[in-house]
Amino acid sequence: MLNVPSLSVKDKNPVPRPSDNVSPMTSVFGKIPDRLYVYGVNWIGDAVLSLPTLQAIRRQFPETFISVLASTQTVDVYGLSPVVDEVFPVLSRSGKAFSKENAVSLCFPLSFRSAWILWKGGWPNRIGYAFEGRSLLLSRALDYAGWKMKGQHQSTYYRELAESVYGPLAESDPVLSAPPEEREKARKFLRDQHLEGRFLVAVNPGAYYGAAKMWPSGFYADLVRRILDDDPDIGVVLFSGEKDRWVTRDIAASVSASRVVSIDGALKLPESVALLSLCHYVLSNDSGMMHLGGALGLPGAALFGPTDPVATGPMGGRTRILRHPVRCSPCFLRYCPIDHRCMLFLTPDLIWPTIREDLDNLRRTH
Ligand code: SF4
Repeated sequence: MLNVPSLSVKDKNPVPRPSDNVSPMTSVFGKIPDRLYVYGVNWIGDAVLSLPTLQAIRRQFPETFISVLASTQTVDVYGLSPVVDEVFPVLSRSGKAFSKENAVSLCFPLSFRSAWILWKGGWPNRIGYAFEGRSLLLSRALDYAGWKMKGQHQSTYYRELAESVYGPLAESDPVLSAPPEEREKARKFLRDQHLEGRFLVAVNPGAYYGAAKMWPSGFYADLVRRILDDDPDIGVVLFSGEKDRWVTRDIAASVSASRVVSIDGALKLPESVALLSLCHYVLSNDSGMMHLGGALGLPGAALFGPTDPVATGPMGGRTRILRHPVRCSPCFLRYCPIDHRCMLFLTPDLIWPTIREDLDNLRRTH
């Protein structure tokens, strides 16, 4: 019989907090670039973590026009950022005409392919990290191994890349804004589901990266039942995408309560963000939805297993990290090769007192 160690709960994630101690007009580029082209990242969570860098550039260099080339997965994340002037999908790259006059390009992904696309497309002044032998394709290659050695949060990866052009940039939390028309549609959806006016808990039980990041669906169902039993006014919204809608279907079928609604993978990202913005607490695996909740400034709890919250924890400062200490974590694997103990030992019994305390505190001010 294994001895189950106590739950590890951190009240604050180890993400740097905003700072104002930065000169607003420094650049190591010689001149401040008029145009910034960014090759964006492919994962929703990574895209959210790259936003503070763009926000700092906008704030310190307000005249800069910011264009982002994004994948289909992240084009909407960058599109919902109030500081991005133009977003274009990666498939349209061949038709893109670049303004080369006083412009700079930041390559956020690490892949050889991304540097190749920038080089082939004639992007001006291409700055990226040295990796996979792609330095010859870049105008300036930064030391990736050196950055990795420092063991910093992922958001610093993007900031340090941009600082090689702009000089010191302020730290901040990511900001997203849901379009008003989408929020109105989300309100109507909640009204139709008889959930309007209730305290709403958003639950995101999936993770596109792989099953290793997923807390068991039976645990989620158990926790949802406890949440509903604890307060007759509370409602639960189950979020999922197309690929992991089976999880929310399982949970919805298992709980079978009128105060639970599942979006069943049917919403586009701006619609999901709008609906999420109307919720009051986010319970999630380490996933894109967790980062979106942080960027919306929502409080919540994130269940971590094979990944490292020091490296990719949510920003925003209001998400509690829940994890069970096991020796094999972090392994960063998509699928667990052993018994998934990092998640299985993190039982509903262990985390429920913490979740209930959070919800009690929040409902007092709702
Ligand atoms: S190897 Fe360990 S940390 Fe990785 S998924 Fe399995 S139990 Fe979790």
